[in-house]
Amino acid sequence: MRPLIYNEHCCKCSRGITFSENDYSINHFQLPLCIKCQHWYRGLENEPTLYAKKLFLSLREKGFRVMLEYNDGSKTIDICSEDSMIHIEVDGEHHSTKTKQAISDLWRTYFSLKKGYYTLHVPNLAIKEEFEQTARAISNILIERKRQRQSKNEASSYSFQDRLINAFVRQLKI
Ligand SMILES: [Zn+2]
Repeated sequence: MRPLIYNEHCCKCSRGITFSENDYSINHFQLPLCIKCQHWYRGLENEPTLYAKKLFLSLREKGFRVMLEYNDGSKTIDICSEDSMIHIEVDGEHHSTKTKQAISDLWRTYFSLKKGYYTLHVPNLAIKEEFEQTARAISNILIERKRQRQSKNEASSYSFQDRLINAFVRQLKI
């Protein structure tokens, strides 16, 4: 028996997948998924849109650790970046034309923000008509937010160190 050759990687768990697994998955789900993650995909309550999948794959290719159809415990987010603490929602037209949907989106944004996540709404139209520019702008947002979070964390860890040093110096004076 020929050994299996893993030429591709699952876009969810990063496990190696064979050409045939990849072909099957791309044909059926428009995503490279391993067999285990194909089960996950089949069990999803709502199938992600082609726009969300296209954006997700592009961000993965650019090296971002993003998750598709991420459940945060109370709701499912189209694409989530934990590194940047950003939720990306890829919105159809009804998000801006239906009042109920618009209000629901605002509450989702609020509850995500309470957990520290900023919600980025990306209209389908931007992905459909200006994909490269849309993906580039989103990449920049993810990078910038990650950088800001890192410098904030560094600043707070410095101030913690400063406090420790100050406390130590005060002890010495006594
Ligand atoms: Zn997988």
